[in-house]
Amino acid sequence: MYSSKAYSAAGETAPLAVSTISRRDPAENDVQMDILFCGICHSDLHQVRNEWKSVMPTVYPCVPGHEIVGRVARVGSGVKKFKAGDIAAVGCVVDSDRTCPECKSGLEQFCPNLTLTYNFPDKHTGGVTYGGYSDSIVVDERFVLKVPSGLDLAGAAPLLCAGITTYSPLKHWGVTKGKKVGVVGLGGLGHMGVKIAHALGAHVVVFTTSPKKKDDALRLGADEVVVSSSANEMQKHMSSFDFILDAVSADHDINAYIQLLRRDGNLTLVGAPSKPLAVAAFGLLFGRRSLSGSPIGGLPETQEMLDFCGKHKITADVEVIPIQKVNEAYDRLLKSDVKYRFSIDMASLKSA
Ligand SMILES: [Zn+2]
Ligand SMILES: [Zn+2]
Repeated sequence: MYSSKAYSAAGETAPLAVSTISRRDPAENDVQMDILFCGICHSDLHQVRNEWKSVMPTVYPCVPGHEIVGRVARVGSGVKKFKAGDIAAVGCVVDSDRTCPECKSGLEQFCPNLTLTYNFPDKHTGGVTYGGYSDSIVVDERFVLKVPSGLDLAGAAPLLCAGITTYSPLKHWGVTKGKKVGVVGLGGLGHMGVKIAHALGAHVVVFTTSPKKKDDALRLGADEVVVSSSANEMQKHMSSFDFILDAVSADHDINAYIQLLRRDGNLTLVGAPSKPLAVAAFGLLFGRRSLSGSPIGGLPETQEMLDFCGKHKITADVEVIPIQKVNEAYDRLLKSDVKYRFSIDMASLKSA
């Protein structure tokens, strides 16, 4: 084991503060990375504050962070894909059983025995996994991704969660050139959905409650912007969408969007409202429309997404902060006061 500097929370009401954690020394197939940037995902805040108590109670100290970009520091003797100095990335999953049908299909996100990047039982140390708000991490090479050259690394970090969470359902539901795609909610996830759907060649319509976001939506790649509170504007798009990506985490009426789908159209939820959503059956019956959810993506698809973003020069719009501002950033996240993702410059941890 070796010592690593991190920012951790000691309890559900404690602010994140500097601490020292232990990491395992890299074994045969492990990659040790010096972390350069880590994006702040809303899940980090939920986990730190123990807001998912009923499904994933938080074990303290908690080191969050699953949008990790870093430089390979050393590798185990069996590592083939990486060498010291490479720029690499780690997302939401750091291990799985590798033998179940999901793993064999490259869909590790559905493995019943996966290990999440933080606050999950750690097979190696016996404690819990610690995430990317840290100067270093050790991960099996199967779960480490290659970052294409030419991408801004601060902006590339959020691709590991926000990027793959939007890329995966867009691909799964066949979004290609000429398809009409809606994106509901223009936050961390939504803004990535717009960029990726646009790069896939779709006609992208952004739905927003705030007319102020119109110019930004167009700049990000939207072809049209609809203010969702306007019944008249919504009516114009009735039964016309092939696919709608719903990235809203607050309570909202999804029936209004289901009616905008054409025959066999699909609406996929990637946000996670805390209360159950009401769904009118007739909206689904007419037009054989469907409603789905989708979490992150598997390792092969995450690499495909990174390569796609490299080819199309796509990164998240980020506000880069030093780790010392992370508590302030959490408060701002609650007010949606960020365009569109915070990315922590981990060099700041050296002086913490
Ligand atoms: Zn996330
Ligand atoms: Zn598995």
